[in-house]
Amino acid sequence: MLPAQIYDALLDIVGSAYLRIEPSQLVPYSYDATPLFQHLPDAVVFPGSTDEVARILRLCAQTNTKIVPRGNGSGLSGGAVPIEGGIVLEMNRLHALDEIDTANLTATFGPGLVTSQLSKAVEAQGLFYPPDPGSVVISSLGGNVAECAGGMRGLKYGVTKDYVLGLEAVLPNGEVIRTGGKNTKDVAGYDLTKLLIGSEGTLAVITEITVKLLPKPAAKQTAMALFDTLSQAAAAVAAIIAGRILPATLEFLDQPTLKAVEAYTHAGLPTDVAALLLIEQDGAAVVVQEEMERIAAICRQQGAREVRLARDAQEGEALMSARRATLPALSRLRPTTILEDATVPRAQLATMVERINAIAAHHGVMISTFGHAGDGNLHPTALTDARNPEEIEAVEQAFDDIFRTALQLGGTITGEHGVGLAKAAYMEVRFGKAAIEVMKGIKRAFDPQGILNPGKMFAAQTPRRVVVNHDP
Ligand SMILES: Cc1cc2nc3c(=O)[nH]c(=O)nc-3n(C[C@H](O)[C@H](O)[C@H](O)COP(=O)(O)OP(=O)(O)OC[C@H]3O[C@@H](n4cnc5c(N)ncnc54)[C@H](O)[C@@H]3O)c2cc1C
Repeated sequence: MLPAQIYDALLDIVGSAYLRIEPSQLVPYSYDATPLFQHLPDAVVFPGSTDEVARILRLCAQTNTKIVPRGNGSGLSGGAVPIEGGIVLEMNRLHALDEIDTANLTATFGPGLVTSQLSKAVEAQGLFYPPDPGSVVISSLGGNVAECAGGMRGLKYGVTKDYVLGLEAVLPNGEVIRTGGKNTKDVAGYDLTKLLIGSEGTLAVITEITVKLLPKPAAKQTAMALFDTLSQAAAAVAAIIAGRILPATLEFLDQPTLKAVEAYTHAGLPTDVAALLLIEQDGAAVVVQEEMERIAAICRQQGAREVRLARDAQEGEALMSARRATLPALSRLRPTTILEDATVPRAQLATMVERINAIAAHHGVMISTFGHAGDGNLHPTALTDARNPEEIEAVEQAFDDIFRTALQLGGTITGEHGVGLAKAAYMEVRFGKAAIEVMKGIKRAFDPQGILNPGKMFAAQTPRRVVVNHDP
């Protein structure tokens, strides 16, 4: 419980319609899409303007109250979970698409705008916002910026950080800052825009975002290549890139994932192959056709049993939607689904997938693997049951082995889902003490009181996948 005067002050700032304090109303804000991390907040507020965000943060600074920014709660590392209680600052009322600037090729909007709404709006004007997380229809752009979300177009187009030009953000003391802007070139001072991207709501609250846009590609084509072994699929990924082709999408699904997705979506995916590559290329029509032919030839050379081109855009979109449905599809198989995120240099993809399978067998846990093959970014997904502590312990050990293996192979502990709670314990292993001290210094410069999204990123002792709910 917060002191009564804090509730009164919040009421004064946002009004009763935008303040939740009853325990039953707080439960939906006690977790995100990451299983087994949960903690009730003491209040949830829905600010309607930058000024309200600033007033709320000023109140928190004056009263030393913890506060956790939240987009749409689709995060997969526990970033929006109020692990130390306090206030959840739900940003989805700030969802206005303020401007699509066709002269400068930029868009400016509030952080609560849903990713696919921006994509659709700019595409209607012949423009293109490439970042395409699998959660595109639910995630907020504020959440995308805070996590530096990736997605299915990372190989050719990069990730969220490659598109954000400028931000408005509120510091934990209530001061409003602006970083960057519409300029394509701007090297004045430290790059605070990039610093805030991927800062997971630990440095400042993002209240406005300006991104660059591209012209919408004239054509695109989708295909799937079917392989009898994982190493053939991985070799095809390497050969496509070595062939100087950068597909817009180059996704990998293993057989258990394919079976689950096909049973859920009926998209026509094969289930009798060891691995599938889902490939999409976009650009000028002649280039797309020529490159897709070369990609198909390379896949066959690397042992693909078959390469199937989507007949039309509708079939292509159905395949991409099926890929986006992997998490709900896998979630139907066991009571608890823990989707993880490890990245290795592309050339280590086959080794990493084989090691994941060996680790799963060693610990006796069910792990399906899919991911953004072109980026070396894999999502090993444990299908388990949170009610069985022994099984969860085995899953924990398997993931520990997986993250350490990724690091040994020159990879990293997260390619796109962020550190949050789930990876906090691995930060020092990943970066070493000196770099962590620099990062902590940055955190102190922004948030000397440690009130903004506490317990994330550096909490080496953070319990992993433990329900930490308190009594309402
Ligand atoms: C089915 C599914 C598929 C997914 N696929 C992908 C994928 O392909 N690629 C990928 O990268 N991720 C993926 N994700 C993860 C998730 O969708 C992304 O991390 C997304 O960016 C989170 O957005 P959100 O609005 O839900 O943020 P939340 O989960 O609400 O918050 C995430 C973090 O951002 C912070 N935050 C939110 N808004 C603000 C703000 N305005 N200012 C400051 N901090 C803020 C929070 O404090 C928290 O730390 C997937 C998730 C699901 C459930």
